[in-house]
This record gives sequence, structure tokens and C-alpha cells, in this order.
Amino acid sequence: MGKENIINADENDKGKKGPDFIRQIINRDLETGKNGTRVHTRFPPEPNGYLHIGHAKSICLNFGIAEDYEGGLYNLRFDDTNPEKEETEYVEAIKEDIKWLGFDWKDRLFFASDYFDKFYEFALELVNSGKAYVDSLPAEEIREYRGTPTKPGKNSPYRDRPIEENLEMLENMKNGKYKDGEHILRAKIDMSHVNMNMRDPAIYRIKNARHHRTGDKWHIYPMYDFAHGYEDAIEGITHSICTLEFENHRPLYDWFLNNVSAPCHPQQIEFARLNLSYTVMSKRLLLELVTSNLVDGWDDPRMPTISGFRRRGVTPTAIRKFAKEIGVSKVNSLIDMNFFYYIIREEMNETADRVMAVLDPLRVVITNYEEGKTEEFDADNNPQIEDGGTRKIPFSREIYIERDDFMEDAPKKFFRLAPGREVRLKHAYFLTCNDLIKDKEGNVTELHCTIDPETRGGNAPDGRKVKGTIHWVSAAHAIDAEVRLYDNLFTLEDMADMEEGKEYKDYLNPESEIILKNCKVEPSLAHAVPGAPYQFLRKGYFSADSKYHTREKPVFNRVVALKDSWAKLQKK
Ligand code: ATP
Ligand code: MG
Repeated sequence: MGKENIINADENDKGKKGPDFIRQIINRDLETGKNGTRVHTRFPPEPNGYLHIGHAKSICLNFGIAEDYEGGLYNLRFDDTNPEKEETEYVEAIKEDIKWLGFDWKDRLFFASDYFDKFYEFALELVNSGKAYVDSLPAEEIREYRGTPTKPGKNSPYRDRPIEENLEMLENMKNGKYKDGEHILRAKIDMSHVNMNMRDPAIYRIKNARHHRTGDKWHIYPMYDFAHGYEDAIEGITHSICTLEFENHRPLYDWFLNNVSAPCHPQQIEFARLNLSYTVMSKRLLLELVTSNLVDGWDDPRMPTISGFRRRGVTPTAIRKFAKEIGVSKVNSLIDMNFFYYIIREEMNETADRVMAVLDPLRVVITNYEEGKTEEFDADNNPQIEDGGTRKIPFSREIYIERDDFMEDAPKKFFRLAPGREVRLKHAYFLTCNDLIKDKEGNVTELHCTIDPETRGGNAPDGRKVKGTIHWVSAAHAIDAEVRLYDNLFTLEDMADMEEGKEYKDYLNPESEIILKNCKVEPSLAHAVPGAPYQFLRKGYFSADSKYHTREKPVFNRVVALKDSWAKLQKK
């Protein structure tokens, strides 16, 4: 059974390099029967913010591993041990995001706060065996006594408080007899340990605060390092996967488990967190962007959050593909945002219907085309797909083209429209510009053109060629729309390279969001729904905005531009 599992996982992980180092560890554990045949992982978010793409990596890893192994299970556990910062809004948002990514935790949804009684029992065990004590030193002295990485700490004068007294005081702490910070429960390990985390770390701190799930029951709250291993053990987690910064907390994770009657001993395994270029991934900074209104909420399409990418039009499959492609490693690195865009673009190229949308319209009157006449052209929805379907594109005497597809004094190499020059209107006719109309300021407001009726469908029977093909929409049939062009939120590639004296807000990209209000899109877009992918010809990949788009007032977001800078980079 164990062996079959192993093969299963290797196949699912059919990268070029075989299973990653975490799956290798699990394979070994299955071979030796360490946890029987069980593989059980968890994703433990703290409900103090929305999930970002780094969390998505962790979810895909934890849940993906469980899915790879036969009988594998995964839990969603809210690590809600801190009463102050957590809100139910976040709990709901996190659940929604994970479901959207395509994972189903079934009945395995847990809250660390449900284990508060159990944690307390473990703490009592430690106190009773002389392995924990109540310290009454003020916070700054505790800090002093701790020493430094090069200097050993020293014992607190309260370290040898009798067990009975510790028990009584802990009880009082729990019942709210003291003020915040007056006492603290600490593990009794080693004040001169080379690993600072082992120098009598805190177990419980007094916080006379209300918890969103346990109300006023508790006046002490457990520290992360104390609680986390127990949460895993209570749930029977076999492999507790976390990010690299917890590596030197592992001895403590193990110590807490080894010194009480824990039901099992999960193994902590660390991997490098995801860092992405041109963005930040700290929940604190993301929250600040939201509260200072520098972005339009957690789901602003420029945010690196799952909800932001969703609103922008990125699909869950693209995020999962990205998570898989970047893999897991033990070394921190910066992943190029363009690699993510590349993956999104690759997918949308396969899935997006091709449509015409004019973002900056210039009116064109076709003087040799009958007034009131309409004809329709057939066009493939997606030439990448065999049976991608077709749609009808209406054509009439007045159309819109892109303003920058016309130039009055055009250089030779400008292959688009200019006075006296001919271009192809995609799917329609060859078009020649004969005249232009200007306003008082000298801006071109309208072009007068003629089509060659012989070129219907876009080819000339006499074999003559045109260099440029431009997109257009029929003025009488076009839908008014707002189009939002999104780009990186920050201008600095690695936000860790911020100059001294500057803060991250100094690097906000002023062109990260460009809102175009007077766009004209082809009528087939009347049926657009958020999440459905489109390629606006020559303009990029777009999707309707899930927050603002309505049939009456369409709003489209650019998910990614067409330009494939990643492929170019790779060629270099
Ligand atoms: P903080 O703890 O500072 O609030 P956090 O990003 O660690 O922020 P958690 O809710 O604790 O937030 O994260 C849940 C899980 O997601 C953790 O197991 C953590 O290791 C993982 N995680 C967080 N950020 C990343 C990242 N950038 N890449 C990969 N995994 C991450
Ligand atoms: Mg964390």
C-alpha cells in the first residue's frame, strides 16, 4: 500500500527532476512505515488578512501533496490564537479563495481556538513536571536576561518558583486576576542555549481581550511556537510543512511535543517562501495599502492576493500551474512576475475568444458605403481551437478605429492608416483614408475613408497587399465600455532593495492602473461574464471585472498584455 502510494506521487509530480524534496521525505516515511500509510497535511492561515499568491503556493503544496497520495488527507485550520487581529470577514474570504482554487477540505475545517482547553492541559503537564514556570519579570528585563546570539542569557529569579505556586498563579492568570503583561508562563529549557528560541520561550501571555470565537472565556493566549505543534498533533498531521523562517524553531516545536503526552509527533519540514518581483507579500503592508486607500480593497486587481487576481480575470488553473512550475526549494529566491504573466498568457491563448475592442476611439466615416446598410462578417472565436465556434461581426458606414492606428504625418515604416494609405480592416475590407476633420485645437476628430468593395473578407482579387491590419467596431453596433489596464503595483523589481529612507509607498507604480472610460467594444461582449477570458485583438487578454461589471455598464480588466517579455527574456 505504501509502495503504491509512492509511485502515485512520483507520477503526479512528473517534472523533469522527479519528486521534490518534500515528497522524497514522505516517500521515505511511507517506506519505513513511520506513520503507517498515512499522509495528512494542513494549511494553517491566521485569519488576519486575505490570502496572497504566496499562500496559494503553500495551499497547492500542502493540499497537492495530500491529493497525490492515495488516502491522503488535508485540513484547513484557522490559526486563530491571537484575539486581537482576527476577524470573521477574513475567515470567510479565506474559505472562498481556497474553494475557488479548487480544493475541498470536506469536513476537515478546524479552528485552533477550539483547542484552547487542550493547550491548557499541556501547559499544566509542563508545569507539573517542572518544565514550565510563571515569570514575573517585567518585559524589558526578560529581554535583557535573554542575552544575545553571542552572549548567553541568565536565569530569571522566578525560574525556581515552586510547582504549587506556579499552578496557582497560572490558574489566576487564566481567570483574569492580573493585568496584561504582569506575568508570563515560560518553558524551562536552557537560558544559555545557542538557539535563542530555546532560552525559556514564552508559553502563555496575559491578554484580557475578547476572542472572536471564545468570547471572554480566556485571559491568557498561547504563543505560536507553543500552540502550533500541538494543533498539528491533535489533528494527527503527519507532515507539518512551513516556510524557512521557522527552521530554527523546529527544536522548540519538537521539545514541546516531546515533553507532554501528545497524541503523535508530526514532522516539521521547511521550504522557501514565494517572493515575487514588483510586489509585496507581507500581510501587514497589504493591509496598509487597503486601509490607506492606495488600492481599491483587498481584491484590487493589482494586489497579489488571490481575490485580486480573481477579480482581474486570472483563473485558478493558472495559479495552480504557476505554483507547480515554480516548485519547492530550500533556498529563498525572487520569482519573476513575468513568469506568472507568461503562464496566464499561455492559458488564455488557448481559452480566450478573440474579439475587437477599440480603447481610444477615432470615428471613421466610409463615404462610399451606403447609409443605413449593415452587413455581417463571420469570424472564428478562437483559431487555436478546432471547434471554437464563430460569431457575427456587424459592419456599417461609421466605424471606430484606434486613435493611434492613424497618423497624419506618418513615417514610411508606419504600416497603419495615414492620408492616402490603405490598410486592412480585420475580417472586413481594405480601407483608404482620403480626408480628415479637425477641431479648433487641430486635433483630428474624424476620418473620411473609402473601402474597396472587391476586398470583402480581407483579400484583394488583384493580389495587391497591404502591410497593416487594424481592428475596428461598427459605431452603430458598438457597446460603450470602461476598460482598465493593469500593470505591476510597484516599480522596483525586488522590494527588498528599497533605498534607505524610502518606504514602499514611494515605489508605487503610477501607471499600475489606467482607466479608459470611452471605449467601444463589439456587441458579442454583451454576454461577457466575470472570469470569462477574451483576447482583445492587438490589445491583450481581458475579462469582465467581478466587482463593477454590469450589462448596463460594462467594465473590462486587462489581465495581461500581449507582449511576451518573458519569452524574449528567455531567448536572451
Ligand atoms: P504572518 O504570520 O506574518 O501574519 P503569513 O504570511 O505567515 O503572515 P499565515 O496566515 O501565518 O500568514 O500563513 C499561512 C501559511 O502560509 C503559513 O504556513 C505560511 O508558511 C504560508 N505562507 C505565507 N507566506 C508565504 C509565501 N510567501 N510563500 C509560501 N508560503 C507562505
Ligand atoms: Mg505566519
